[in-house]
Amino acid sequence: METIIKRIDLEREKPEDAEIFCEASRILKKGGLVAFPTETVYGLGGDALMPCAAQNIYAAKGRPSDNPLIVHIGDFDAVDKLAKNVSEDAHKLMKAFWPGPMTLIFEKQEMVPKETTGGLDTVAVRFPSHPVALRLIRESGVYVAAPSANLSGRPSPTRAEHVIEDLDGRIDMILDGGPVAIGLESTIIDVSGKTPVILRPGYITKEQIAGILGRIEVDPAILEEHVQEHLVAKAPGMKYKHYAPKGQLILVEGGSMEQVSTRINQLVEEAMGQNKKVAVIATKESRDCYKAPLVVTIGSRQDEESVAHNLFAILREMDTRGIEMIYCESFEREQLGQAIMNRLLKAAGYHVLHLN
Ligand code: AMP
Ligand code: MG
Repeated sequence: METIIKRIDLEREKPEDAEIFCEASRILKKGGLVAFPTETVYGLGGDALMPCAAQNIYAAKGRPSDNPLIVHIGDFDAVDKLAKNVSEDAHKLMKAFWPGPMTLIFEKQEMVPKETTGGLDTVAVRFPSHPVALRLIRESGVYVAAPSANLSGRPSPTRAEHVIEDLDGRIDMILDGGPVAIGLESTIIDVSGKTPVILRPGYITKEQIAGILGRIEVDPAILEEHVQEHLVAKAPGMKYKHYAPKGQLILVEGGSMEQVSTRINQLVEEAMGQNKKVAVIATKESRDCYKAPLVVTIGSRQDEESVAHNLFAILREMDTRGIEMIYCESFEREQLGQAIMNRLLKAAGYHVLHLN
C-alpha cells in the first residue's frame, strides 16, 4: 500500500491541518493505521475497540500478538470507559502525571477486545501530552491503541524518518511532527493489584512515583536478565528481544572514567585487528578519551535527559553505518538512569563487561 506522509508544524497551525486530521480520523475509523508523534516516541495507532485494527498493528510491526498494546486517551473520562476498579493510588498518579509519559495497567472493561490486550484481562492506558497525539485522539473520537511505530525488535522511533525506515508501505499514514522530546517509552505502572508495581521504567522515575504514593515496588525483571528468564514477564513485551542493533553492543562499567575508556580503547584495537567495523558510544564528558574510527556522543552525564533523547537514534545510526562492534559506557541505575540502563541492557542482550 502507499503510505501517506504529512508534515504537521507544531509552531504554527495551518488551515490544511484540518484536512490532514480529517483523513487520519477516517483511516482510524475504518480499522486502518496511522503513525503519530507522542512526547515519548512515535506510536502506531489503530482503533483500540476494533479487533481487526489490533491485528493490523501486529501484522505491520511483525509483533507477536500476545504482546498487548497501550490504549491512548484524550481526556480523564475515558478511563472509566476502558477500566474497572480504578484505585485511589491510580487516581493520585493520574492527577500527578497525566497528560504525560505514564501508562497505567487496570482491570479491563468487557468492551476492550482481547486482541488489544494480548489476551489479558487488563488494559494499559495512557493520556499523552503531545498536541498531535491529542488532536488525533480527540478529533477521531477513537481510543487509539498504539505500540511504538517500529518493526518488532528494532529501536523505537524518535523521528518520523525512523517510522518511514521501518513501516513505509506497511501502514496507511504517517503524521510527521518532527523529533520527539523525551525519546524513551512511557513508565508502565501496574495498578490492577493491591500494590502498584513499575513494570517498565521510563521518563517518570520511581523516585517521582514514590514521592506521590509514599512507596512503589519495581518488577525485578527490569534490570536483570536471569530473573527475566525464570519469571513470566508481567509486561509481556519485556520478554522479547528489543532495541538490538545488528552489531554486538557491549556495555563497560565499574572503575573510573579513565579505566573504562582505557579498557574500551583496548577492545576497539582488538576488534579492528579482526577487521571489524567499530564504534564507541561516549558521553560529552568522556568523548575525548577515545581512539576509535567512530565516536558518537550520546549526551551529557550532567543531563541524563540528553542521553534518553539520543539513545534510540544512535542505535539506529549504528545499523545505518553497518557497525559490527559497539562499545558503550554504562550509567547509574537511579532516576532516569534506570530507564536508560533498562534499554541499553536489552539492546546489548545483557552483555556487560565489569571492570574490577
Ligand atoms: P510499546 O507500545 O511498544 O511501548 O509496548 C507496550 C508495552 O506495554 C509492552 O511492553 C507491553 O507488554 C506492555 N503492556 C501493554 N498492556 C499491558 C497489560 N495489560 N499488562 C502488562 N503490560 C502491558
Ligand atoms: Mg515498542
